[in-house]
Amino acid sequence: MAASDFSKLIAAAADTIAAHAEELTALDQAIGDGDHGLNMKRGFEAVRAEADAFSAKPLPEALKAVGTKLVMTVGGASGPLFGTLFMALGKELPAVPDRTALAAALDKAIEAVAARGKSQPGQKTMLDVLQPVYEALAQGKTVREIADAADKAAEATVPMKALRGRASFLGERSIGHMDAGARSTALLVRAIAEAIEGNR
Ligand code: ADP
Ligand code: MG
Repeated sequence: MAASDFSKLIAAAADTIAAHAEELTALDQAIGDGDHGLNMKRGFEAVRAEADAFSAKPLPEALKAVGTKLVMTVGGASGPLFGTLFMALGKELPAVPDRTALAAALDKAIEAVAARGKSQPGQKTMLDVLQPVYEALAQGKTVREIADAADKAAEATVPMKALRGRASFLGERSIGHMDAGARSTALLVRAIAEAIEGNR
């Protein structure tokens, strides 16, 4: 991937998080502590500030650098998890991935997030978006279908009962609200998928 293309992905991710920070905060206020919007914005703005340096690296190194920066800057429960996601993608992806390599790397990265969070899909977390996105990618779905699958998966966390993270402290009262991390993951998936498509 050309350096300018990786820069575009970073900008697309940081832009969508900035544009939806208040929405993410509101979601986290309903069943968490209300810091998810600010956490994510702080992290992705820190990544944006290093976009030139990161984009000069080969893709695996660039992704690892993004993950490390997110771990250092996002904070909360989600920081280490999003950090793990990007670091694991960097570890698994070749310098010039095709769709098959991308799907395989995402599969491994989801495993790494699940291990880190001691969590699995079905518990009302970001994993409930990541897993269907992997499946759509592996099934050869289009960029639009993958992004739509991510949005649908985030919506599908509304009726779920949280079994991990702060929202799990609410038990049944976590039902009826969208998980903030599922929403931020869906936003990132759409932004990155559309930016990759635009780079072609
Ligand atoms: P905190 O919960 O510490 O305030 P954030 O508000 O930034 O951190 O992030 C909350 C999000 O992190 C949740 O909405 C959920 O998607 C995700 N999350 C929390 N714990 C876990 C876990 N154990 N496994 C997977 N995702 C988790
Ligand atoms: Mg929070």
